Amino acid sequence: KEKEKNMLYSLNKEAARYYFNNLTKDKTALKYLYDRGIQDKTIRTYGLGYSNNSWDDIYTFLKSKGYSEIDIEKAGLIIKHRDGNRYYDRFRGRVMFPIIDVRGRIIGFGGRVVRDGQPKYLNSPDTTVFSKGYNLYGLNIAKKYSRDKILLVEGYMDVISLYQYGINYCVASLGTALTLNQSKLLKRYSNDIYICYDSDNAGLSAADRALDVLREENINAKVILLPTGKDPDDFIKENGRERFENLFKDSYNYLDFKINFYRKKYDLNTVEGKVSFTTDISSMLKNIKSPIELDAYVKKVSQETNISVDAIKEEINHNRDSYV
Ligand code: ATP
Ligand code: MN
Ligand code: MN
Ligand code: MN
Repeated sequence: KEKEKNMLYSLNKEAARYYFNNLTKDKTALKYLYDRGIQDKTIRTYGLGYSNNSWDDIYTFLKSKGYSEIDIEKAGLIIKHRDGNRYYDRFRGRVMFPIIDVRGRIIGFGGRVVRDGQPKYLNSPDTTVFSKGYNLYGLNIAKKYSRDKILLVEGYMDVISLYQYGINYCVASLGTALTLNQSKLLKRYSNDIYICYDSDNAGLSAADRALDVLREENINAKVILLPTGKDPDDFIKENGRERFENLFKDSYNYLDFKINFYRKKYDLNTVEGKVSFTTDISSMLKNIKSPIELDAYVKKVSQETNISVDAIKEEINHNRDSYV
Protein backbone atom coordinates (compact mmCIF):
# COMPACT_ATOMS: atom_id res chain seq x y z
CA LYS A 1 0.00 0.00 0.00
CA GLU A 2 2.78 2.43 0.93
CA LYS A 3 4.48 1.67 -2.38
CA GLU A 4 1.28 2.31 -4.28
CA LYS A 5 0.80 5.64 -2.51
CA ASN A 6 4.27 6.81 -3.43
CA MET A 7 3.69 5.72 -7.00
CA LEU A 8 0.47 7.78 -7.12
CA TYR A 9 2.16 10.89 -5.67
CA SER A 10 4.85 10.70 -8.35
CA LEU A 11 2.36 9.99 -11.10
CA ASN A 12 0.20 12.94 -10.08
CA LYS A 13 3.24 15.18 -9.99
CA GLU A 14 4.20 14.18 -13.52
CA ALA A 15 0.64 14.79 -14.65
CA ALA A 16 0.48 18.21 -12.96
CA ARG A 17 3.72 19.25 -14.59
CA TYR A 18 2.40 18.11 -17.95
CA TYR A 19 -0.89 20.01 -17.50
CA PHE A 20 1.06 23.10 -16.46
CA ASN A 21 3.23 22.96 -19.58
CA ASN A 22 0.13 22.61 -21.73
CA LEU A 23 -0.86 26.14 -20.78
CA THR A 24 1.92 27.56 -22.91
CA LYS A 25 1.30 25.21 -25.85
CA ASP A 26 -2.44 25.63 -26.28
CA LYS A 27 -3.36 29.17 -25.27
CA THR A 28 -7.11 28.55 -24.86
CA ALA A 29 -6.94 27.96 -21.13
CA LEU A 30 -4.28 30.56 -20.47
CA LYS A 31 -6.40 33.19 -22.19
CA TYR A 32 -9.37 32.07 -20.13
CA LEU A 33 -7.41 32.43 -16.88
CA TYR A 34 -6.08 35.85 -17.91
CA ASP A 35 -9.62 36.94 -18.80
CA ARG A 36 -10.61 36.00 -15.26
CA GLY A 37 -7.79 38.10 -13.89
CA ILE A 38 -5.47 35.27 -12.86
CA GLN A 39 -1.79 36.20 -13.04
CA ASP A 40 1.21 34.05 -14.00
CA LYS A 41 2.54 34.11 -10.45
CA THR A 42 -0.73 32.70 -9.11
CA ILE A 43 -0.79 30.03 -11.80
CA ARG A 44 2.60 28.91 -10.53
CA THR A 45 1.69 29.10 -6.85
CA TYR A 46 -1.34 26.86 -7.31
CA GLY A 47 0.20 24.84 -10.15
CA LEU A 48 -2.72 25.38 -12.50
CA GLY A 49 -2.74 23.66 -15.85
CA TYR A 50 -4.78 22.51 -18.82
CA SER A 51 -5.84 19.07 -19.97
CA ASN A 52 -5.89 18.99 -23.76
CA ASN A 53 -9.15 18.28 -25.51
CA SER A 54 -8.17 14.74 -26.42
CA TRP A 55 -9.25 11.21 -25.45
CA ASP A 56 -5.77 9.81 -24.86
CA ASP A 57 -3.44 12.68 -24.10
CA ILE A 58 -2.55 12.11 -20.44
CA TYR A 59 -2.74 8.39 -21.13
CA THR A 60 -0.07 8.59 -23.86
CA PHE A 61 2.09 10.94 -21.83
CA LEU A 62 2.07 8.86 -18.64
CA LYS A 63 2.66 5.62 -20.58
CA SER A 64 5.71 7.27 -22.12
CA LYS A 65 6.89 7.94 -18.56
CA GLY A 66 6.67 4.25 -17.79
CA TYR A 67 3.35 4.08 -15.91
CA SER A 68 1.00 1.19 -16.61
CA GLU A 69 -2.66 1.51 -17.50
CA ILE A 70 -3.52 0.06 -14.12
CA ASP A 71 -1.47 2.72 -12.35
CA ILE A 72 -3.02 5.58 -14.32
CA GLU A 73 -6.48 4.20 -13.68
CA LYS A 74 -5.71 3.94 -9.97
CA ALA A 75 -4.84 7.65 -10.06
CA GLY A 76 -8.26 8.33 -11.55
CA LEU A 77 -6.83 10.04 -14.61
CA ILE A 78 -8.17 7.51 -17.12
CA ILE A 79 -11.42 5.60 -17.21
CA LYS A 80 -12.00 2.13 -18.63
CA HIS A 81 -14.28 2.16 -21.63
CA ARG A 82 -17.51 0.21 -21.34
CA ASP A 83 -16.48 -2.21 -24.09
CA GLY A 84 -13.68 -3.67 -22.01
CA ASN A 85 -10.05 -2.93 -22.72
CA ARG A 86 -9.73 0.61 -23.97
CA TYR A 87 -9.25 3.63 -21.73
CA TYR A 88 -9.98 7.31 -22.13
CA ASP A 89 -8.82 10.45 -20.30
CA ARG A 90 -11.08 11.64 -17.51
CA PHE A 91 -10.11 15.30 -17.87
CA ARG A 92 -10.40 16.73 -21.39
CA GLY A 93 -10.26 20.38 -22.30
CA ARG A 94 -10.31 21.58 -18.70
CA VAL A 95 -8.41 24.06 -16.57
CA MET A 96 -6.71 21.84 -14.02
CA PHE A 97 -6.43 22.52 -10.29
CA PRO A 98 -4.04 20.14 -8.51
CA ILE A 99 -5.29 19.27 -5.05
CA ILE A 100 -2.34 19.28 -2.67
CA ASP A 101 -2.30 17.94 0.86
CA VAL A 102 -0.71 19.64 3.88
CA ARG A 103 2.50 17.74 3.26
CA GLY A 104 2.77 19.13 -0.25
CA ARG A 105 1.81 16.00 -2.16
CA ILE A 106 -0.52 16.11 -5.14
CA ILE A 107 -3.41 13.82 -4.28
CA GLY A 108 -5.95 14.63 -6.98
CA PHE A 109 -7.30 17.18 -9.42
CA GLY A 110 -10.25 19.40 -10.07
CA GLY A 111 -10.98 20.41 -13.64
CA ARG A 112 -13.12 23.27 -14.92
CA VAL A 113 -14.48 23.51 -18.45
CA VAL A 114 -13.05 26.44 -20.33
CA ARG A 115 -15.97 28.82 -20.59
CA ASP A 116 -19.28 26.91 -20.95
CA GLY A 117 -20.00 23.20 -20.79
CA GLN A 118 -21.25 20.43 -18.53
CA PRO A 119 -20.40 19.50 -15.91
CA LYS A 120 -18.71 22.77 -15.00
CA TYR A 121 -16.38 21.07 -12.53
CA LEU A 122 -15.09 17.55 -12.43
CA ASN A 123 -13.00 16.08 -9.61
CA SER A 124 -10.74 13.07 -9.34
CA PRO A 125 -12.54 10.10 -7.82
CA ASP A 126 -11.43 8.98 -4.38
CA THR A 127 -8.23 6.96 -4.65
CA THR A 128 -5.69 5.38 -2.31
CA VAL A 129 -4.25 8.85 -1.73
CA PHE A 130 -7.35 11.02 -2.14
CA SER A 131 -10.44 11.14 0.06
CA LYS A 132 -12.51 14.24 -0.57
CA GLY A 133 -13.96 14.34 2.92
CA TYR A 134 -10.52 14.40 4.53
CA ASN A 135 -8.91 17.21 2.56
CA LEU A 136 -9.38 20.89 1.86
CA TYR A 137 -8.33 22.71 -1.27
CA GLY A 138 -5.71 25.38 -0.61
CA LEU A 139 -4.79 24.28 2.91
CA ASN A 140 -1.21 23.65 1.77
CA ILE A 141 -0.92 27.41 1.15
CA ALA A 142 -3.30 28.73 3.80
CA LYS A 143 -1.54 26.86 6.61
CA LYS A 144 1.53 29.02 6.06
CA TYR A 145 -0.46 32.17 6.75
CA SER A 146 -3.23 30.95 9.03
CA ARG A 147 -1.71 31.74 12.43
CA ASP A 148 -4.73 33.98 12.84
CA LYS A 149 -7.85 32.88 10.98
CA ILE A 150 -8.99 30.61 8.16
CA LEU A 151 -11.69 31.48 5.65
CA LEU A 152 -13.75 28.68 4.21
CA VAL A 153 -15.17 29.25 0.71
CA GLU A 154 -16.97 27.09 -1.87
CA GLY A 155 -14.76 26.99 -4.90
CA TYR A 156 -11.27 26.69 -6.30
CA MET A 157 -11.58 30.03 -8.07
CA ASP A 158 -12.64 31.74 -4.85
CA VAL A 159 -9.51 30.54 -3.05
CA ILE A 160 -7.25 31.59 -5.89
CA SER A 161 -8.86 34.92 -6.57
CA LEU A 162 -8.82 35.95 -2.90
CA TYR A 163 -5.18 34.91 -2.66
CA GLN A 164 -4.34 37.39 -5.41
CA TYR A 165 -5.84 40.15 -3.33
CA GLY A 166 -3.75 39.18 -0.34
CA ILE A 167 -6.40 37.09 1.42
CA ASN A 168 -4.06 34.12 1.63
CA TYR A 169 -5.74 32.11 4.37
CA CYS A 170 -8.59 30.54 2.33
CA VAL A 171 -9.57 26.94 1.79
CA ALA A 172 -12.43 25.24 -0.06
CA SER A 173 -14.16 21.97 0.69
CA LEU A 174 -13.95 19.85 -2.40
CA GLY A 175 -17.32 20.21 -4.05
CA THR A 176 -19.04 18.49 -1.13
CA ALA A 177 -20.69 19.57 2.08
CA LEU A 178 -18.15 20.20 4.83
CA THR A 179 -17.41 16.96 6.68
CA LEU A 180 -16.55 16.33 10.31
CA ASN A 181 -13.06 15.22 9.26
CA GLN A 182 -12.54 18.46 7.40
CA SER A 183 -13.48 20.42 10.52
CA LYS A 184 -11.01 18.34 12.52
CA LEU A 185 -8.39 19.24 9.95
CA LEU A 186 -9.28 22.93 10.13
CA LYS A 187 -9.04 22.87 13.90
CA ARG A 188 -5.43 21.77 13.69
CA TYR A 189 -4.58 25.08 12.02
CA SER A 190 -6.94 27.64 13.54
CA ASN A 191 -9.74 28.15 16.00
CA ASP A 192 -10.95 31.25 14.27
CA ILE A 193 -12.92 30.00 11.29
CA TYR A 194 -15.00 32.17 8.96
CA ILE A 195 -17.36 30.86 6.31
CA CYS A 196 -18.01 32.83 3.14
CA TYR A 197 -20.06 30.76 0.74
CA ASP A 198 -21.88 31.90 -2.38
CA SER A 199 -24.79 34.17 -1.63
CA ASP A 200 -27.51 31.97 -3.10
CA ASN A 201 -29.89 29.44 -1.56
CA ALA A 202 -27.45 26.58 -1.97
CA GLY A 203 -24.68 28.58 -0.33
CA LEU A 204 -26.82 29.68 2.59
CA SER A 205 -28.01 26.13 3.30
CA ALA A 206 -24.45 24.89 3.04
CA ALA A 207 -23.30 27.54 5.52
CA ASP A 208 -26.13 26.55 7.87
CA ARG A 209 -24.96 22.94 7.81
CA ALA A 210 -21.26 23.83 8.02
CA LEU A 211 -21.94 25.82 11.20
CA ASP A 212 -23.36 22.70 12.83
CA VAL A 213 -20.55 20.46 11.63
CA LEU A 214 -17.94 22.88 12.98
CA ARG A 215 -19.83 23.22 16.22
CA GLU A 216 -19.50 19.49 16.74
CA GLU A 217 -15.77 20.14 16.91
CA ASN A 218 -16.41 23.01 19.33
CA ILE A 219 -15.52 25.56 16.69
CA ASN A 220 -17.58 28.70 16.92
CA ALA A 221 -17.38 29.72 13.27
CA LYS A 222 -18.73 32.98 11.88
CA VAL A 223 -20.50 33.54 8.60
CA ILE A 224 -19.77 36.36 6.19
CA LEU A 225 -22.71 37.25 3.97
CA LEU A 226 -22.20 38.69 0.50
CA PRO A 227 -24.73 40.61 -1.59
CA THR A 228 -27.26 38.23 -3.17
CA GLY A 229 -25.97 36.26 -6.11
CA LYS A 230 -22.28 36.96 -5.50
CA ASP A 231 -19.44 34.66 -4.59
CA PRO A 232 -16.17 35.76 -2.97
CA ASP A 233 -14.40 35.89 -6.35
CA ASP A 234 -17.11 38.15 -7.84
CA PHE A 235 -17.17 40.34 -4.75
CA ILE A 236 -13.49 41.01 -4.38
CA LYS A 237 -13.09 41.74 -8.09
CA GLU A 238 -15.84 44.34 -7.90
CA ASN A 239 -15.01 45.80 -4.51
CA GLY A 240 -11.38 45.15 -3.70
CA ARG A 241 -9.56 43.86 -0.66
CA GLU A 242 -10.51 46.51 1.87
CA ARG A 243 -14.26 46.17 1.34
CA PHE A 244 -13.91 42.43 1.55
CA GLU A 245 -12.00 42.61 4.81
CA ASN A 246 -14.59 44.97 6.22
CA LEU A 247 -17.13 42.17 5.91
CA PHE A 248 -15.41 40.30 8.73
CA LYS A 249 -16.60 42.90 11.20
CA ASP A 250 -20.21 42.31 10.19
CA SER A 251 -19.97 38.52 10.25
CA TYR A 252 -22.69 36.49 11.93
CA ASN A 253 -22.04 34.18 14.83
CA TYR A 254 -23.91 30.88 15.17
CA LEU A 255 -27.12 32.23 16.64
CA ASP A 256 -27.23 35.45 14.65
CA PHE A 257 -26.88 33.46 11.46
CA LYS A 258 -29.47 30.90 12.51
CA ILE A 259 -31.99 33.56 13.46
CA ASN A 260 -31.45 35.35 10.16
CA PHE A 261 -31.52 32.19 8.12
CA TYR A 262 -34.58 30.63 9.72
CA ARG A 263 -36.43 33.92 9.60
CA LYS A 264 -36.28 33.72 5.82
CA LYS A 265 -37.00 30.00 5.74
CA TYR A 266 -40.31 30.32 7.57
CA ASP A 267 -43.18 32.62 6.78
CA LEU A 268 -43.35 34.73 9.91
CA ASN A 269 -46.68 36.21 8.80
CA THR A 270 -48.37 32.93 9.62
CA VAL A 271 -48.90 31.38 13.04
CA GLU A 272 -47.35 28.08 11.94
CA GLY A 273 -44.30 29.93 10.68
CA LYS A 274 -43.89 31.78 13.95
CA VAL A 275 -44.30 28.63 16.00
CA SER A 276 -41.80 26.62 13.94
CA PHE A 277 -39.29 29.46 13.95
CA THR A 278 -39.55 30.02 17.67
CA THR A 279 -39.40 26.32 18.47
CA ASP A 280 -36.30 25.85 16.31
CA ILE A 281 -34.49 28.83 17.73
CA SER A 282 -35.48 28.00 21.31
CA SER A 283 -33.90 24.59 21.04
CA MET A 284 -30.65 26.35 20.12
CA LEU A 285 -30.96 29.02 22.81
CA LYS A 286 -31.12 26.43 25.55
CA ASN A 287 -27.34 26.01 25.23
CA ILE A 288 -26.58 29.61 26.10
CA LYS A 289 -25.08 29.82 29.57
CA SER A 290 -24.89 33.58 30.00
CA PRO A 291 -28.26 34.95 31.25
CA ILE A 292 -27.50 38.34 29.70
CA GLU A 293 -26.80 36.89 26.29
CA LEU A 294 -29.85 34.68 26.55
CA ASP A 295 -32.04 37.64 27.43
CA ALA A 296 -30.81 39.57 24.38
CA TYR A 297 -31.58 36.70 22.03
CA VAL A 298 -34.97 36.01 23.56
CA LYS A 299 -35.93 39.66 23.07
CA LYS A 300 -34.80 39.46 19.47
CA VAL A 301 -36.91 36.39 18.76
CA SER A 302 -39.83 37.97 20.55
CA GLN A 303 -39.57 41.06 18.36
CA GLU A 304 -39.45 38.99 15.21
CA THR A 305 -42.50 36.92 16.11
CA ASN A 306 -44.55 38.93 18.60
CA ILE A 307 -44.48 35.87 20.81
CA SER A 308 -44.01 36.96 24.43
CA VAL A 309 -40.63 36.82 26.13
CA ASP A 310 -42.18 34.73 28.91
CA ALA A 311 -43.49 32.09 26.54
CA ILE A 312 -40.14 31.80 24.78
CA LYS A 313 -38.29 31.51 28.09
CA GLU A 314 -40.69 28.83 29.22
CA GLU A 315 -40.12 26.93 26.01
CA ILE A 316 -36.36 27.14 26.54
CA ASN A 317 -36.57 25.91 30.14
CA HIS A 318 -38.81 23.10 29.04
CA ASN A 319 -36.12 22.15 26.49
CA ARG A 320 -33.45 22.28 29.16
CA ASP A 321 -35.31 19.83 31.38
CA SER A 322 -35.71 17.36 28.59
CA TYR A 323 -33.06 14.73 28.15
CA VAL A 324 -34.25 13.36 24.81
P1 ATP B 1 -16.60 29.59 -11.39
O1 ATP B 1 -16.40 30.92 -10.78
O2 ATP B 1 -15.43 29.06 -12.15
O3 ATP B 1 -17.87 29.49 -12.18
P2 ATP B 1 -17.39 28.59 -8.81
O4 ATP B 1 -16.39 28.09 -7.83
O5 ATP B 1 -18.03 29.91 -8.57
O6 ATP B 1 -16.69 28.53 -10.24
P3 ATP B 1 -19.78 27.14 -8.19
O7 ATP B 1 -20.80 26.72 -9.18
O8 ATP B 1 -20.12 28.22 -7.24
O9 ATP B 1 -18.49 27.47 -9.03
O10 ATP B 1 -19.33 25.85 -7.39
C1 ATP B 1 -18.49 25.92 -6.25
C2 ATP B 1 -17.62 24.69 -6.16
O11 ATP B 1 -18.43 23.53 -6.12
C3 ATP B 1 -16.69 24.49 -7.35
O12 ATP B 1 -15.47 25.16 -7.21
C4 ATP B 1 -16.50 23.00 -7.36
O13 ATP B 1 -15.52 22.59 -6.41
C5 ATP B 1 -17.83 22.49 -6.88
N1 ATP B 1 -18.70 22.14 -8.01
C6 ATP B 1 -19.50 22.96 -8.71
N2 ATP B 1 -20.14 22.31 -9.69
C7 ATP B 1 -19.73 21.02 -9.60
C8 ATP B 1 -20.03 19.83 -10.33
N3 ATP B 1 -20.86 19.83 -11.35
N4 ATP B 1 -19.40 18.69 -9.91
C9 ATP B 1 -18.55 18.68 -8.88
N5 ATP B 1 -18.24 19.76 -8.17
C10 ATP B 1 -18.80 20.91 -8.51
MN1 MN C 1 -22.16 28.05 -5.85
MN1 MN D 1 -19.38 30.24 -6.94
MN1 MN E 1 -17.37 31.88 -9.17
